[in-house]
Amino acid sequence: MDAEVVVVGAGIVGASIALQLARRDVGDVLLIDAGGPAGGMSGRSFRQVRTHYSNEVTTRLARRGIEILRDWDDHVGVGDSGFEPVGYLLAVAGDQADGCAANVALGYSLGCAPSSSRPSGCRRSSRCWPPMAWRAAHGSRTAA
Ligand SMILES: Cc1cc2nc3c(=O)[nH]c(=O)nc-3n(C[C@H](O)[C@H](O)[C@H](O)COP(=O)(O)OP(=O)(O)OC[C@H]3O[C@@H](n4cnc5c(N)ncnc54)[C@H](O)[C@@H]3O)c2cc1C
Repeated sequence: MDAEVVVVGAGIVGASIALQLARRDVGDVLLIDAGGPAGGMSGRSFRQVRTHYSNEVTTRLARRGIEILRDWDDHVGVGDSGFEPVGYLLAVAGDQADGCAANVALGYSLGCAPSSSRPSGCRRSSRCWPPMAWRAAHGSRTAA
């Protein structure tokens, strides 16, 4: 089989690269994998997407990824991402609170807004509330 571009690895990264290349009219793009699609880590993910990270690049990538999952029809147009906004709560130990707060501040600065206020049942020691994140679950919320 001939192709102008061969992408090795049909996980989320390879599949995304192949999709973007195909859209850029670079010729035939061939996506290959030693196993099947999502046969590696991508098929084992918890399917949680979040914007709570310690660096700007990852936060921006995550935010963009969430936009694509949310507006799947506009961006991909085939199938269903299974995007389901369910929220995200991260409890941290006291010695990790400053780092967590810095991640929250970074998320805010990049436009990732929190989705909810502090749940009434939470203990006061949980001091850090991260920006909104979502789970993209296929089938049900409990699907692994
Ligand atoms: C248990 C678990 C839970 C996770 N949960 C989350 C989560 O909730 N949220 C999140 O954002 N991330 C999560 N992650 C991380 C996330 O799954 C990975 O970062 C992501 O899937 C990596 O994608 P990838 O395409 O780089 O790699 P992979 O999905 O591993 O794809 C690589 C592919 O390349 C193929 N390959 C490798 N070498 C060759 C070769 N020589 N020739 C042909 N094919 C080859 C493999 O077969 C594989 O299919 C989780 C990871 C694990 C393990």
